[in-house]
Amino acid sequence: MKPALFEYSAPTTIREAVALLAADSGSMVLAGGQSLVPAMNLRLASPSRLVDIQHIAGLTGISVENGAIVVKAMTRHRELELSEAAFKANPVIRAAMAHVAHIPIRNRGTVVGSLCHADAAAEMPMVLVLTGGSVVAEGPGGRRTISAEDFFQFHMTTSRQPGELIVEAHFPVLPAGAGAAFDEFTRRHGDYAIAAVGAIVAFGADGRAKDVRVATCGIGSKPMRLRQTEALLEGSEVTANDLAAAGEAAKAAVTAPDDMHATTSYRRRVVATLVRRVVETAAKRARQGR
Ligand SMILES: Cc1cc2nc3c(=O)[nH]c(=O)nc-3n(C[C@H](O)[C@H](O)[C@H](O)COP(=O)(O)OP(=O)(O)OC[C@H]3O[C@@H](n4cnc5c(N)ncnc54)[C@H](O)[C@@H]3O)c2cc1C
Repeated sequence: MKPALFEYSAPTTIREAVALLAADSGSMVLAGGQSLVPAMNLRLASPSRLVDIQHIAGLTGISVENGAIVVKAMTRHRELELSEAAFKANPVIRAAMAHVAHIPIRNRGTVVGSLCHADAAAEMPMVLVLTGGSVVAEGPGGRRTISAEDFFQFHMTTSRQPGELIVEAHFPVLPAGAGAAFDEFTRRHGDYAIAAVGAIVAFGADGRAKDVRVATCGIGSKPMRLRQTEALLEGSEVTANDLAAAGEAAKAAVTAPDDMHATTSYRRRVVATLVRRVVETAAKRARQGR
């Protein structure tokens, strides 16, 4: 299929891009095009204008500053996956990135594009929630920072306002002494997750877990933290019984209806298993100091 007719603009500054977006509520940002172009070809999206941001200077690059990995809007998935600085700062990013589509798609698609697309089963939105990250939006009125949990509202719906361009994503550095892990289940490698889980665990001097964060995607309408699971693990010694209880608690968070990929009850079993495995790995890494 072919897309509906659209206008095309290739601004060279952020200000110009924001002005174009603000002038036409039917306009859409084009980044790597890996989600938007197929959607246009299927006429699931029919923007009146594409605002192509790939020629804007200063919109690429990764830096680690003020406790966060800062990823500019046109940074491709693969650049972040291969970044040693980002890996050292927070290894869970590379662990998750290996599950995003396939290398040719990661060579073109952008991290921020994935966040803005906000597929409820996508890995990077979940990693932003897991790590407690944020995005920076620039609109006609200036810049604002939006926390991950405020940004993702529903499947393919964010709190980005018309006229705003997301210019950066901030993934916090892994806290000292913490361990992190990520895993997901799909029928074929590179598919969106039937369920995915990420965890960050640290231990206090008393040997009990603290600052536990567990997040998931693929099981509901948006990426989310598993608060009940976290509460059960907080202060525990992360024994086999604790892990089993944490996994069981995660089942209640599954709201995705039966679909062609999995039934709801199957997703519940998958998420419980992933929670057990991923938290166990994160805890082991924390204990081993890596
Ligand atoms: C076969 C296939 C398999 C895939 N599998 C997976 C997978 O397993 N997991 C996964 O997470 N993804 C998967 N993807 C999607 C892929 O990761 C995309 O690259 C990503 O979702 C979008 O990034 P993009 O740069 O291509 O964005 P685009 O397609 O250009 O844009 C996506 C959306 O975000 C908006 N947007 C982009 N950048 C900005 C910005 N800076 N500010 C405001 N809005 C913006 C666009 O307007 C559009 O609505 C798959 C894609 C394909 C084709």
